Amino acid sequence: MSLMNPDREALRRLDKAHLWHPFTQMRDWCASEEDPLVIVSGEGAILTDIEGNEYLDGNSSIWTNVHGHRHPVIDAAVREQLERIAHCSALGFSNEPAIRLAEKLVGFFPEDTLTRVFFTDDGSTAIECACRMALQYRELRGQNRRRRFLAFDGAYHGDTIGAASLGGIATFHGKVAAMGYDVSRLATVEALESLDDTEAEEVNAVVIEPLVQGAAGMRLWPAGMLRRIRQWCDRHGAFLILDEVMTGFGRTGRLFACEHEEAVPDFLCLAKGLTGGYMPLAATLTTEEVYSAFLGRYEERKTFFYGHSYCANPLGCAAALGNLRVFAEENVIAGLPPKIEALATALKEAKEISPHFGEIRQIGLIAAIDLLDQATGEPLDWREETGAKVCRRARAYGLLTRPIRDTLVLMPPLCVTEKQIREAVGALVQASADVLGA
Ligand SMILES: *Cc1c(COP(=O)(O)O)cnc(C)c1O
Repeated sequence: MSLMNPDREALRRLDKAHLWHPFTQMRDWCASEEDPLVIVSGEGAILTDIEGNEYLDGNSSIWTNVHGHRHPVIDAAVREQLERIAHCSALGFSNEPAIRLAEKLVGFFPEDTLTRVFFTDDGSTAIECACRMALQYRELRGQNRRRRFLAFDGAYHGDTIGAASLGGIATFHGKVAAMGYDVSRLATVEALESLDDTEAEEVNAVVIEPLVQGAAGMRLWPAGMLRRIRQWCDRHGAFLILDEVMTGFGRTGRLFACEHEEAVPDFLCLAKGLTGGYMPLAATLTTEEVYSAFLGRYEERKTFFYGHSYCANPLGCAAALGNLRVFAEENVIAGLPPKIEALATALKEAKEISPHFGEIRQIGLIAAIDLLDQATGEPLDWREETGAKVCRRARAYGLLTRPIRDTLVLMPPLCVTEKQIREAVGALVQASADVLGA
């Protein structure tokens, strides 16, 4: 769909005049030779910009979109809710979409495991909420020594100070560590298992992105690790907080990554794909054991005094119900294996023909390609921003995606076709050759 917008120059100028984009060096963004790419519409896995150019949404609009843009079922769910009410408060009131969504979410887990749902706005607040619940739980149970969170090198759990203090990426998290939670960092599950009893008794919770760390560059954890962490937590009375903000909703080939290792956490954090990528909504699921510690007479001050204005937003919850309906009606998870296979095959062929592709990692429909210096076989100098240049060039071949430094990321919506997968990988091969030389 071509959109002949006479104001497109004005829009670009106003963007540069007034917007401040996330994780963006605005000096480069506003440079005179740069033209901000303005997206005007989407359909399935395809995005259209203001000039009418079409692109594959190669990173699912920063890991959020699930069944494609403008999916008729989710569109209808949102429209129907809009006919009733867009927002009402969850402080003192309830609403039907939130009630139905909570029931559906706990229904994905074995009975009497995760039974309670606390809604917030995004991944960072889902994590904050879990940590704050875990801390107050220890206080309420008189376990005052259990204050420490264990998190992993390379972890990313969001950008509010508490969530960022759990993170293990120096560029993002180095400056806030001192302001946040009491956190110790681990490299491996073996490091966890080698803690002595005194150290273990101080642990409140282990926090991890199960199976794959996203912002670290799609780093895969060894098989069996999650199960071992669950066992360690059980042995030592520590909570397990799983951050499935990225891995949730089919990305890894299962609805939730923790299903691969049959590990049920004490807190499960969901966001990005929860609404199918339609709206900011997040959920922190927890157990009846955690929840019940907060019950008491008002004056006992056991209440969880935490919340946000848009908690349990009805439009977001309606979108999330639409998202889950599509999973069920279209049998989405069962349809993934051939696509995952097509991605594996395309990546394998790309590695054979591209001299710039180093290690390639894949889980489900998440893929990462490390770019290497062809001459030395070493990583590139990150200051050259080669990954960004390659992704920028890939636009010419109909692909939009965003790298993590010099790691190219491909994470299309689950509705992507096998043909689109091959074209997307082809675009990265071409773009790398253009930028780095054939
Ligand atoms: C994106 C992300 C977050 C933060 O979510 P926001 O919605 O951006 O606040 C947390 N954890 C993981 C694993 C993520 O990928």
